[in-house]
Parts: sequence; structure tokens; C-alpha cells
Amino acid sequence: MKKKVGLVGWRGMVGSVLLKRMIKKKDFNKFISIFFSTSEVGKKNPFNFSYSNKILKDAYNIEELKELDIIITCQGSAYTNKIYPLLRFSGWSGYWIDAASDLRMKKDSLIILDPINKKNIINSINNGIKTFVGGNCTVSLMMLALGGLFKNNLIEWISFSTYQAASGGGSGYILELLKQMKYLNKSLLNNLKNLESILNVEKILTKITKNDSFPTNFSIVPLIINLIPWIDSSLKNGQSKEEWKMESETNKILCRSNTNKILIDGTCVRVNSLRCHSQSFLIKLKKNINLNEIEKIISNHNKWVRIIPNNKEFSMKKLTPLSVTGTLNIPIGRIRKLSLGPKYLSAFSIGDQLLWGAAEPLRRMLKFLI
Ligand code: NAP
Repeated sequence: MKKKVGLVGWRGMVGSVLLKRMIKKKDFNKFISIFFSTSEVGKKNPFNFSYSNKILKDAYNIEELKELDIIITCQGSAYTNKIYPLLRFSGWSGYWIDAASDLRMKKDSLIILDPINKKNIINSINNGIKTFVGGNCTVSLMMLALGGLFKNNLIEWISFSTYQAASGGGSGYILELLKQMKYLNKSLLNNLKNLESILNVEKILTKITKNDSFPTNFSIVPLIINLIPWIDSSLKNGQSKEEWKMESETNKILCRSNTNKILIDGTCVRVNSLRCHSQSFLIKLKKNINLNEIEKIISNHNKWVRIIPNNKEFSMKKLTPLSVTGTLNIPIGRIRKLSLGPKYLSAFSIGDQLLWGAAEPLRRMLKFLI
């Protein structure tokens, strides 16, 4: 019998990328899909799949949700925190697949990234685990890029800097970046006569972005012509929560305990690219291995990682958000030994945070279950 799968949060950034992938891979023939909404209950389901509901159901209705075998949600933390405990308390023992971060570190949930932990996913299903959560986007992208080094236990520690796209903050955040672009453009057009000198342009743009009416509800400060070196909430130790996730989630995925964890720390930065997260790594290796061997280990790990030769032309063409967006490719370049010593490696990697960083691990998890 076909399983009943509830979809929540399919209208958002992650949800719509997930649906697109599922349609492309013809996943909807394999189960009965039931579409829920938090804002458009009772409206027509925009998707016309053979095994699907015609009218959108209420994503807050526990009785309806209890009928499902699997729920896959990309709705976000507020929804997960409200509905998940109520559903479990009601006795529902179906599978919960989630893009939000809240359940990742719970004992009875698994962070899913099957090119890294497929065995653990299968064992967990067999052992009765029912909650599966996609990892933080930069964590998943880092693990795919450096998977060979993790697998061969070659990493002593990693220091990172991230360059995370606006769409990582969700639909509201990216819409606001677009509004900021429009606002600047309009002001530039109004000031065309002052644009002859570059310094004048710089002055005008800076003044406009500092104006009280400049749209910054989501980003708090302007993101356009700027960057923001803080993502997510603050922790007492001075880290942002996004930075904390890198070490804690990576080690949970690798099943490493506190005593043998890989140390990973650095700075997470929001930049004004539209899509794709980039990351720069400084890696201390456990032993001195030559660059050819390192590149082989990295590229043999999975079929999405791509070694980009460390030269200007390839780096500019193949190692940018624009060259990666909308693909599952994980290019990694700028690979070289640092002057700090033969065990110090630098690398730069990019991935589409809406695909491998969010939607794709969820889609593949659903496939394991059906
Ligand atoms: P999002 O785009 O803000 O969508 C979440 C929900 O917001 C949608 O399902 C929709 O719910 C509602 N919404 C409000 N205004 C909308 C609009 N203009 N367009 C579309 N939907 C709108 O959030 P998201 O980025 O997909 O993130 C979902 C979850 O995945 C979060 O927990 C996030 O932390 C996590 N995540 C995100 C990323 C990323 O790169 N964005 C990466 C990894 C994990 P209704 O249809 O019910 O109104």
C-alpha cells in the first residue's frame, strides 16, 4: 500500500526547491501526497498530482496530521516547536523529516546526509528512530566538500570563514535584499547628475542605505553594499549559533563523542550573493600528505565534489556562487599548503545551500522510507 506523506512548508525557499527536485525525479508517483498550509488552508492545491489532495489542509490540525505515515516539513522552527511535541504527545509514531534546526541535536533524532552517514541512517530506521533532520546548510556543504578527509580521519582541526547568501535567511530576507536593490536603483536614477565622480556615488549610496526608511526589517542593517558578520542568535561564549553548529553537528553526524571530536570553529558571515554558500577553510591535517594525494582523496569521496585547479582563471569561472547556483555540484578549489607548515591546508568551497544544504538530504531521506 502507498504511504501517506504530508508536505508542510512547500511554498518557502527550501520547500519550493524540494518540490522542484521531487517533480524532476518523479517522486510523487511513489506515495500519496497530502499538502498542508499554515496560511492558505481551504485554497486549491496548486499541484495536480494523481495521488494528492485537491484542497490545502490545515498544518496545525493534529487530527489530520496523525493520519500520516510521514511528515516532511520545511516550514521552519516556530512550526516544528509548536506541532512536533503535540503530535508525539498525541501518540503519533510516524516519521518526521525536518529542515529546521531545532530537533537536530536531540538524542532520538538523526542528522541526515546520506553520502556521509548512509549506514547510520539505515541502522537508525531499523532501530526505530522516527525523527530525521537535515543538517545546517554550511555543515552539510562542508562535509560533502571535505568528505574524503573526514572519512580517512585526516583532520585535526578546521578554522573556517563563511560567505552565506541572502536566501539562507528565507523568503523574507531575500525579498528584502531585492527591495534594497530597488531602493538604491531608484535613488541612483534620481541622482544621475551627481554620478560623475566615483566618490560622489559612494557618498550617495552610503547616505541612502543609512536612511531610516531603508528596508531592513529582516537584515536589521543593510545587506546590499555591505556584509554582516553575525548569523543566528548569540551564545554566551562569543560564538554565533551558526558558528556553534559547525562543530557540534559535524561531530554528531560523524558519531564522534566529546573525547574524540574534531575541533571546528570560525566566523559565519552573511554576504549579498543571492544563492549558494561559500566557505574558506584552514585545515590542520594529522599528517603531511602531498597535494595530489589530498585531491584524489577528496574527489574520490562522492560524485558531486569537483576539484577546481588552483589558478585565477578556474577560480573565477568555476568557484563562484553564480557558477554553482541551481546545481548539486560541490566545487572545491584554492587547495594549497600554507606557509604555516606542511600540515596546514587551505581550501575554498561552494554549494547550493537550498539543494545539498537543505532540500536534497530531505528528499533522499523520504526515498529511504518509502
Ligand atoms: P521561508 O522561505 O521563509 O519559508 C517558510 C514559510 O514561510 C513558507 O513555507 C511559507 O509558509 C511562509 N512564507 C512567508 N512569506 C513567504 C513568501 N514570500 N514566499 C514563500 N513562503 C513564504 O523559509 P526557508 O528558507 O525555506 O526555511 C525553512 C526552514 O529550512 C527553516 O527552518 C530554515 O532554517 C531551514 N533551512 C533553510 C535554508 C535556506 O537556505 N533557506 C537552508 C537550510 C535549512 P506558508 O505557505 O504556510 O505561508
